[in-house]
Amino acid sequence: MTRTVFVNGSFVPEDQATVSIFDRGFLMGDAIYEVTTVIDGKLIEFPAHMARLARSLAEIEMPFEVDEDALLAMHHELIARNDLDQGMIYMQVSRGPADRDFVYPADPKPTLIAFTQSIPWLSMPFIETGFKVVSCPDKRWGRRDIKTVQILWTCMSKVDAQRKGADDVWFVEDGLVTEGSSCNAFIIKNNRIITRALSNDILHGVTRAVILKFAKEQGLEVEERGFSVEEAQQADEAFVTASPLFATGVVELDGVTIGSGKPGPMTMQLREAHIRESLKDGL
Ligand code: PLP
Repeated sequence: MTRTVFVNGSFVPEDQATVSIFDRGFLMGDAIYEVTTVIDGKLIEFPAHMARLARSLAEIEMPFEVDEDALLAMHHELIARNDLDQGMIYMQVSRGPADRDFVYPADPKPTLIAFTQSIPWLSMPFIETGFKVVSCPDKRWGRRDIKTVQILWTCMSKVDAQRKGADDVWFVEDGLVTEGSSCNAFIIKNNRIITRALSNDILHGVTRAVILKFAKEQGLEVEERGFSVEEAQQADEAFVTASPLFATGVVELDGVTIGSGKPGPMTMQLREAHIRESLKDGL
């Protein structure tokens, strides 16, 4: 099926969508993106994704007004036109076309694009089996809190992880896990949930925030600090969070089985609570 995508104000068939070869997103990675999960045709945590979009844009001084109502209407139109039940909407704002120059253009004309992908998130095999993960040095840039399209080290690392028979990678810096390729990393030990604190070193995950809120509501203790690969290997449970993954178990790290070798009971409890609540609040 030919998808309908969104480019600079127009809904067009995907094979008719065009962006300038001078676009700074294409030439320099000068672009910000967000991915919103769709379940039952509804957008999950949409306002939080728009808030992070606005923050990322402000951090790179991109003059683009995040009109949440207009963007919500655009997302709904894409869902309707593509008959999307489960999947995601990818949205990207770049600084637009300009003569190539490291300095930002004085009067940028940002490019806004969005498209859908249909993916059966709630019936993926990894929900039951969990992820096998390998560690790898975190060689990404130092502002991982800004959701830019410069993600080539992530691609290289994930390809390498899959060649080693793993599903994903956990990045390590100064002996401590930062996060996964496109997810935040957690361990559970003696009923305490441990995850790295927010800083420029990691993306401030929308799902991370929701899961920590649930955990605290359920009376679980949360420690926001870094942990090593060895500590994770000895944890009772481990999991990752990302919008489309919700909480997904991690069962192996660098060849060492974590816990029972299956997604742990607390992970599954948090996952189910999150899915239940987010479906209620979906837009
Ligand atoms: N960390 C990175 C590097 C990511 O790319 C993502 C999501 O794309 C996440 C964490 C999880 O963020 P969220 O829960 O907002 O999807």
